[in-house]
Amino acid sequence: MPKDIVEIVENALEKIIAGVPRIAERDLKVIKSITEGLILSGIAMSLYKDSRPASGTEHHLSHFWEMRMYAQGKVPALHGIKVGLATIVSLFMWKELAKIDINNLQTKCDAIKLPSKYEEDIRQLYGINAEQILQTTNPNLPFEHIKTNWEAIHKIAEGLPPPREIEQMLKLASAPVRPADINLSDDVLRDSVIYARDRKKTYTVLQLLGDLNLLEDFADRVSNYFAKTALKGVKCLVLDMDGTIYLSDYLFPFTKNFLEHLSKIEMNHVFYTNNSSQNKSHYLKKLERMDIPCSSDKLFMSTDVLLSYLSRSDGKIGTYKSDGTPGNRVFVAGTKALMQDFTDAGYIVTDTNPDFVVLGFDTDMDYERLTKLCDFVRSGLPYLGVNMDYNCPIDGGFIPDCGALAAAVEVSAGIMPEFFGKPSTRTLDYLIEKTGFREEELCFVGDRLYTDIASASGKKSRSVLVLSGETKLEDLQTSDFIPDLVVSDLSELKEYF
Ligand SMILES: [Mg+2]
Repeated sequence: MPKDIVEIVENALEKIIAGVPRIAERDLKVIKSITEGLILSGIAMSLYKDSRPASGTEHHLSHFWEMRMYAQGKVPALHGIKVGLATIVSLFMWKELAKIDINNLQTKCDAIKLPSKYEEDIRQLYGINAEQILQTTNPNLPFEHIKTNWEAIHKIAEGLPPPREIEQMLKLASAPVRPADINLSDDVLRDSVIYARDRKKTYTVLQLLGDLNLLEDFADRVSNYFAKTALKGVKCLVLDMDGTIYLSDYLFPFTKNFLEHLSKIEMNHVFYTNNSSQNKSHYLKKLERMDIPCSSDKLFMSTDVLLSYLSRSDGKIGTYKSDGTPGNRVFVAGTKALMQDFTDAGYIVTDTNPDFVVLGFDTDMDYERLTKLCDFVRSGLPYLGVNMDYNCPIDGGFIPDCGALAAAVEVSAGIMPEFFGKPSTRTLDYLIEKTGFREEELCFVGDRLYTDIASASGKKSRSVLVLSGETKLEDLQTSDFIPDLVVSDLSELKEYF
């Protein structure tokens, strides 16, 4: 690349990088400097007559992610945001490449082994663009040529900043650094390493890895890199119960061993259930029966979050006050256990002239109660839902949960309640307050995408999906909520600590 173009790019980089720590503050001087840097980078591209001076592997990857997400019916994050994460991936690959002993590689360029079913995969992944991709003949470099220039390649790798450095810069700018932050699944991440190289006719580290037959190996390395660091900084696991530690009354055989391991390595944990058909004492007794040690300050429920919200409303939503002043009359569409929780908290549970309405996982629901509930909601009374789950897994299938009942009320009365259990932000705030851990130190572990995993989505908290309950691996393809880590069950999660 001509020296003057390199100088323009270096100047552009300087203008951009210097302001990173103040990007998040929207500092006007910084925005001006970054804008100048971007314009310079554009000038460099136009002088060079292609995008190479300012784009490489990170753009191949970012465009691939975008394409796959659109194909899966998802809305991808902005290109620049994806490029930030893709830069971490790209730098990681360069640094790993530098660890390779070229003399021990068996590869010969004339014997390039494309991934199995390469053409079929490309057709499936790229759809209508497949022909174009298949015809993009990226120049292969002969193995001997790569070997001769290995020292120069090594120097490039050594001259690049480590991925952690870029991660820190991105964090300073409040930009995403984890695949889960942009709802990027491990599958798409791995595929991008293997198949994104032919998106453009430019020789990047992806082409180099392809010429060395290392793409599949590096897809594994990239995947492991994020998996191994997924739980870094986590200090407390928020363990879902049904589908995670047990299934109905069946305690998973690995649960005790997992919990013992947590206590051995001094990793904190609490239990949290969205199920509002029972109350806390029921769950404490159930855990005791299963010989799982737990105290009431380590077990939380969606009902706790709602009651806590009501108790601190300080008159802002005056009808909910529980101190005996008007406004403590509540109509509870829920089980006896839920009604008792409200009575214990000082409310008058009634079906006459209530001040507000609560809908829980009402397994005792009958037509008369449903009618009353719809009437109260239709009349405009404040309407609160305990948990948004559509179904509750039981032995051999599902039964309709609170979210399904809310949907029925919505059809009749036209209003959905505000929900308080997972994934409500109120649940996260409640857990931060009760456990004393920071948002980024909490990790939701559960079997359900739209409650457990969604609780951490768009937050600094982490999430782990266990496949021992309701979710199947293929459900991730269409999910808007992607966990930081997917494991078959808690026994596999143990290996990450
Ligand atoms: Mg569950």
